[in-house]
Amino acid sequence: MPPPPDYKLSEGGPFFALHLLPLLAIFTGTTWVDWAVCFGLFFLRMFAITGFYHRYFSHRTFKTSRWFQLVMAVWAMSSSQKGVMWWASTHRQHHKYSDLPWDPHSPAQRGLFYAHVGWIFDRNHDETDMERVKDLARYPELVWLGKHWMVPPIALGVLVWWFLGWSGLLIGFMLSTALLWHGTYTINSLSHVFGTQRFESGDTSRNNWALALLTLGEGWHNNHHTYQGSTRQGFYWWEVDITYYGLKLLSWVGLIWELREPPAKLLEEGRRRDAAKRRGEPRLPEVGATDTVTARTSA
Ligand SMILES: [Zn+2]
Ligand SMILES: [Zn+2]
Repeated sequence: MPPPPDYKLSEGGPFFALHLLPLLAIFTGTTWVDWAVCFGLFFLRMFAITGFYHRYFSHRTFKTSRWFQLVMAVWAMSSSQKGVMWWASTHRQHHKYSDLPWDPHSPAQRGLFYAHVGWIFDRNHDETDMERVKDLARYPELVWLGKHWMVPPIALGVLVWWFLGWSGLLIGFMLSTALLWHGTYTINSLSHVFGTQRFESGDTSRNNWALALLTLGEGWHNNHHTYQGSTRQGFYWWEVDITYYGLKLLSWVGLIWELREPPAKLLEEGRRRDAAKRRGEPRLPEVGATDTVTARTSA
């Protein structure tokens, strides 16, 4: 069994400050540009978290060049969610032990609050398990960035302050960063509690369209837990997955390639399950589960 939580609340100063400091905008006043930058930086960085940290660095669902890999790492790191090595290693641990005691953020194990934010303040999750990210450790630039993960977000904050002044920093950078953190966290917390389960993925992962809109596609979390090797997480046209559309655009201009699709057999099974549910039939037994399990363990 994993050790009990060992909280480091005293180190949470910058985290809490970033939530409270935007209130100072009451004194500075704000412009529409500050709010536009807040909106823009939220979604641009959400795209980088889901498209790059998650679908590329954690699951390697497409390929790219070494220079664009570096661009993706820096872009995603500007969200201030620690370095690419740490993010990928804890995420791979999440899939390996989904909802089991060694899952770093399972609501089923330690409750919704711990899964949402508590685990980030638990010293037990400070270290990066380099064994889990050997494929990324081959690139010294990624290892360096992993050790200096504060550089991209501070650089972005300074840039926003330089162009937009204090109100830009408070709203455009700080508020959007705090919102972005919680948007990302919902996938670890709410997406394992609220929503529907199309597949029997063997854990509590759910599909939730509202979370999918907020997180640009990550809310199709039961699809994702069932087949991690796919670039798209909205498996059907009606499952809006904006990150996937963005990644498609990047592939059309040649920056990334070999995006991976879910197997046709799995999509067919999903359609059968949806139809059976509409008819009010009891849950179908898992067909093609061997493929699913292979995909889970190989990702
Ligand atoms: Zn994942
Ligand atoms: Zn999950």
